[in-house]
Amino acid sequence: MESVEKRTRHFIEQEIDQDLEKGVYNHVMTRFPPEPNGYLHIGHAKSILLNSGLAEEYGGQFNLRFDDTNPTKEKEEFVDSIKEDVEWLGAHYGEHLYFASDYFQRMYECAVQLIKDGKAYICELSADEIREMRGTLTTPGTNSPYRDRSIDENLALFEKMRCGDVPDGAMVLRAKIDMASPNINMRDPVIYRVAHMHHHRQGDAWCIYPMYDFAHPLEDAFEGITHSICTLEFEDHRPLYDWVVRECGFKPGPRQIEFAKLYLTNVVTGKRYIKKLVEDGIVDGWDDPRLVSIAGLRRRGFTPESIRMFIDLCGISKSNSSTDYAMLEYCIREDLKMKDKRMMAVIDPVKLVIDNYPEGQTEELPIINNRENEELGSRTLTFARELYIERDDFLEEPPKKYFRLFPGNEVRLMNAYFVTCTGCEKDADGNVTVVHATYDPETKSGSGFTGRKVKGTIHWVPANESIPATVRLYENLIDEEKGVYNEDGSLNLNPDSLREMKDARLEPAFGDLKAYDSFQFVRQGYFCVDAKDSSPEHPVFNRIVSLKSSFKLPK
Ligand code: ATP
Ligand code: MG
Repeated sequence: MESVEKRTRHFIEQEIDQDLEKGVYNHVMTRFPPEPNGYLHIGHAKSILLNSGLAEEYGGQFNLRFDDTNPTKEKEEFVDSIKEDVEWLGAHYGEHLYFASDYFQRMYECAVQLIKDGKAYICELSADEIREMRGTLTTPGTNSPYRDRSIDENLALFEKMRCGDVPDGAMVLRAKIDMASPNINMRDPVIYRVAHMHHHRQGDAWCIYPMYDFAHPLEDAFEGITHSICTLEFEDHRPLYDWVVRECGFKPGPRQIEFAKLYLTNVVTGKRYIKKLVEDGIVDGWDDPRLVSIAGLRRRGFTPESIRMFIDLCGISKSNSSTDYAMLEYCIREDLKMKDKRMMAVIDPVKLVIDNYPEGQTEELPIINNRENEELGSRTLTFARELYIERDDFLEEPPKKYFRLFPGNEVRLMNAYFVTCTGCEKDADGNVTVVHATYDPETKSGSGFTGRKVKGTIHWVPANESIPATVRLYENLIDEEKGVYNEDGSLNLNPDSLREMKDARLEPAFGDLKAYDSFQFVRQGYFCVDAKDSSPEHPVFNRIVSLKSSFKLPK
């Protein structure tokens, strides 16, 4: 991995360096400002790690601030999940947890001051009329007939709005900027609206609510944020951000810098879409392991380290692009390959009987837990006459280049003996129920046997002592062949995104399992104990990622 020292400094670091050099600021303070209207996703992780990382790099402060100025969609559940996810990612805000709604009084006072300065007015046009009179990219807007009200009248009407004497939508407060500005955001934007709504933290204390473009710069300014980092879609709002900061008297105010959002190819990242999948019951809640919500990734078995590595690899830029999900998979494989024990688990079992192995006999075979990391120790596994192997490791009529079990063929049972397939039993429908083989006692693993070679090695577990488990195999929620969206804007769902294997068998050495414990299942991938559905009586595992990939790290 590249270290921060080695890579070139990205454009935001360069901007901050210059600000510090010029003395615009003498410290760095950043924030992550989520709206508590959903769970966080992998895109938010980029913003969280960028902001908290900059604060750490410059010895500054990182705030977690809930942008809870819109009472319609916000919920306490989302506040709790966001706090948990931010901490889990390792972005430490400590005591610096804030809520924009706690600033409502100060925002109101700023609005009153703007009115007193002749910089804001009460407008009684309807939302449609305001839109129509705003003009277009090529034509200027038209002044509101209410634009030249006296300061006293504006103050009185604003007071009336605040007291609850104005119905929703009847009046708004608008900034008085320039209806002919080439930037539409500067054409007297609405900064306060009436909404008789209950707020999740403020209750019924307010019936006027500030608009995002007014509230956000003030939140940053009140907290003393130096660099307000946001995504590209806010670039055109920057002049308004600067106007609010300046007109409300903050010097030097916070500075907005935009960067490109993270998008994943063929993966649903938008909060809106994830929310719909949850609400339509297509997934098992916001933490469904197929989602790239932070909670979903955690439940799937991704680690904070893997997500940090991924975000580092993505880099910070000013142009939109889409990153391959395979890169995220690469990162979790890299993270787990040294950390996890490599265990035997049979996901779709069929019985293997070794007919020349004495009935009732067993032996304990030593196994190294991870050959690349001796620190993970070793274990033993019981070998016996009856084992389970993967159903697809046996074929009665093998195609060319199939090197696993078929009648007459010899393979290695991993960490054990060579066995030669002698045939199989089938049920009335022709399904294989038992595979038969004989073993060669001379070929025990570790015995130094060099008499002959075999082309295939398969894994197994002892039939009697193995532990029944469920293993969930995931694929992309989206049908990649067809792309993410249908023509009508709906999502192209993959009907096979979840396959539940309910008869899996684990070797006994898995021991006591805790939520999120992860293992490599040899030959199959990395798997993690499901935090919701696993129990000591019946473990449930999620496949995090398979072992193989054609993914190459971009140069
Ligand atoms: P979504 O785009 O999924 O609907 P949002 O922008 O509505 O998310 P917010 O709670 O407003 O969600 O986002 C909080 C912060 O996260 C904002 O600063 C936003 O710019 C940033 N953010 C959101 N999506 C991404 C992304 N894909 N990549 C990087 N940053 C993002
Ligand atoms: Mg948003």
